[in-house]
Amino acid sequence: MLTLRNNFHNTTCRVNVKPGEVLSYHQLRRARFHLCGIDGCTCSNETGTRGQQWQTDGSVVELVPVFQNGNNAPVFEVIEIAGPQEIT
Ligand SMILES: [Zn+2]
Repeated sequence: MLTLRNNFHNTTCRVNVKPGEVLSYHQLRRARFHLCGIDGCTCSNETGTRGQQWQTDGSVVELVPVFQNGNNAPVFEVIEIAGPQEIT
């Protein structure tokens, strides 16, 4: 479980995805809607996230765009970049 954050709008959105997995189209749309949702806002990318991202156990993750099957639209894979930290 991942709590995505946007530190510009101060919003969060929980998605059920683990490191090594990609966010589904619907998870991505839902995250973008809940985290920013403002047409034309440039605070973030397609994920709606901004700033540090954590799993619920405190480990730090990044959402990395990857291109699948020659598709022009990237999907976002969750990569763990550090073990559990104290969430600040
Ligand atoms: Zn925004």
